[in-house]
This record gives sequence, structure tokens and C-alpha cells, in this order.
Amino acid sequence: MENCIFCKIAKGEIPSATLYEDEEFRVILDLGPANKGHALILPKAHYANIYELPDETAAHAMVLAKKIVTKMKDILKCDGYNIVQNNGEAAGQTVFHFHMHLIPRTAGDQAGITWTPGTLTSEDRDEILEKFLME
Ligand code: AMP
Ligand code: ZN
Repeated sequence: MENCIFCKIAKGEIPSATLYEDEEFRVILDLGPANKGHALILPKAHYANIYELPDETAAHAMVLAKKIVTKMKDILKCDGYNIVQNNGEAAGQTVFHFHMHLIPRTAGDQAGITWTPGTLTSEDRDEILEKFLME
């Protein structure tokens, strides 16, 4: 992907605040953090989103997320962590190179990663179960 900024960052062609790097991933600090310590896991290979991500890379990304947040929570002494991963514009994805957000949380902070809970209707439940389980 010629014009993908995360390809360039992941491969080291554009400098970044790198917390971790191996053959498969680079972990950087987000330039527009939701909170202090907000980091991004970037695979070095280009996959636009989770649908394109190979299973093995997905598995490695989650293990890496676990390692990074486990270390970071002690460093930052934060109260919690959100691991967020957006797919598609409608879901808030703005950079179309797969990435995972690691967002430290402090009690009462204004990071605002939440939603207003609705109600699972019996119609929705039945429709989704029927369609999903049919496949
Ligand atoms: P998303 O909205 O899930 O696609 O997330 C994209 C994230 O990338 C946002 O949190 C941005 O602040 C962050 N971002 C965009 N460009 C850069 C960059 N050059 N270096 C670090 N973070 C970036
Ligand atoms: Zn890319």
C-alpha cells in the first residue's frame, strides 16, 4: 500500500514514538490520544481491517495487547484499560490499516468510550439467532 501512513510508520519509514517492535508488529503512541498512554498496535503487513487479517496475526495481536497493557498499567498506575478496534467508517475507522487501540483509563476520566445501552428485543434476538445460526 503505497500511500498508507500506518504502513510507513510500521516499517519505520516515518518516525514514531515506538514502545515495542518485532518482525510482525510495531506498537506506537497515538498522536491524538484519548488518554495519556494511548497506544496503537500496528501489523507491519497491510490489512485494511479485521476481515482481511489472517487468523495467526489476529492471535498474535491479542497476545501482544495483553503484554503491553499488563506492563503499561503498572507504569501508568491506571485504573482500567479499553482495547478498541474500529472497522469501517461507520465504526469510526479513519486509518484503513488494521490497528488496535490500547487506551488506559482512570476513574472519572472523560475518554468517553461508551454507549447508551438499548434493549435486546425478542424480534432482534430471534432474527439474529436464526440468521447467524443458519450460516
Ligand atoms: P481509527 O479512528 O480507529 O482509524 O484510529 C486512527 C488513530 O490513529 C487515531 O487515534 C489517530 O489519532 C491516530 N493517528 C493518525 N495518524 C497518526 C500518526 N501519524 N501517528 C500516530 N497516531 C496517528
Ligand atoms: Zn498500510
